[in-house]
Amino acid sequence: MVPRSIAACQTTTPEPFRRSERETAWKHDLAEAYRQADDLLAALGLSPEAIPDLDSAAPGFRMLVPRAFAALMTPGDPRDPLLRQVLPLGAERLSVAGFSRDPVGDASADVGSGLLRKYAGRALLIVTGGCAVHCRYCFRRHFPYAALGETPDRTAVAMASIAEDPEISEVILSGGDPLMLDDDRLGALLERLHEIPHLKRLRIHTRLPVVLPSRVTDALCRLLAGSHLATILVVHANHPSELGAQAEDALQRLGRAHLTLLNQSVLLSGVNDAVPTLVALSERLFECGVLPYYLHQLDLVEGAAHFAVSDAQALRLGEALRQRLPGYLVPRLVREVPGVGSKIPLIDSARIGSPLL
Ligand SMILES: *Cc1c(COP(=O)(O)O)cnc(C)c1O
Ligand code: SF4
Repeated sequence: MVPRSIAACQTTTPEPFRRSERETAWKHDLAEAYRQADDLLAALGLSPEAIPDLDSAAPGFRMLVPRAFAALMTPGDPRDPLLRQVLPLGAERLSVAGFSRDPVGDASADVGSGLLRKYAGRALLIVTGGCAVHCRYCFRRHFPYAALGETPDRTAVAMASIAEDPEISEVILSGGDPLMLDDDRLGALLERLHEIPHLKRLRIHTRLPVVLPSRVTDALCRLLAGSHLATILVVHANHPSELGAQAEDALQRLGRAHLTLLNQSVLLSGVNDAVPTLVALSERLFECGVLPYYLHQLDLVEGAAHFAVSDAQALRLGEALRQRLPGYLVPRLVREVPGVGSKIPLIDSARIGSPLL
């Protein structure tokens, strides 16, 4: 960094400096994210009184909202569907029967190195606990990240265990958000995965192209395009308004880097539990080069009960989407059931015994 800042003082700024500025702008954008509910509300022209159940402190799971995401909210609308996803409410403190701190059984599947082996042929590696946004409905909002991930020792253990098991053909980088790692750390991780001969695919589950599109730099696209593993990026958008011009540009560039782009959404009351919204989301995703993959029924995580949509309503929405959209734009309506090695199509989940809804 030092030589570069010296270079910046020269009269003609060399190109490498400018490029490097562009490529680290996302860290600056992250530092500037809203962390106080009152600041976010003021930016939207709303007074805190406009949100009767506001919980400004939210000490357990702090508010975090990048400015690029806030810029897509409608000023003056206390019920904006993007705002609802990120604004802490007192309702999160209610204890509701059926909602728990580890709703999908991750804590029991963990093998201590941040490697989760819940799914046949796939290994899920938690590479960081950090995210650029704190989604209030997140199923990992109580996850013990501090006990996992990140340290070189743990990564070595995880890599060794992937290398030992030829049944694993796909590694899923998860978190947190794996694109919170900077290019150097991500590159180092990819290099180690490249040394494992039985791996065919790399999957990255990330919300950053949507909520922090500046993270999708040309350097990141080159890094991902340079992998010999077939690379799938699963993004996470729940509402068509999340896909603004910047996110579209980021996704188009990832598509040009020959990544397969899929989206997963969570069905959320007051956000996207309406047919026109879900139709518009699928169509907007397609414009961005992304195919809808999953529409998840909410994981029953403590603090998120106010987002729940009944199974009956979810099934009605799913049927309406099938009637209105081509098959490739209809996401699979699924739920995660602890201890089951795949997502369960909602239509069948009654047979497994849906816990609550
Ligand atoms: C379900 C799930 C997976 C595995 O997904 P498949 O597409 O069913 O292989 C990986 N990561 C997360 C976070 C999931 O919820
Ligand atoms: S980005 Fe994903 S992991 Fe992070 S808070 Fe949102 S839902 Fe949870």
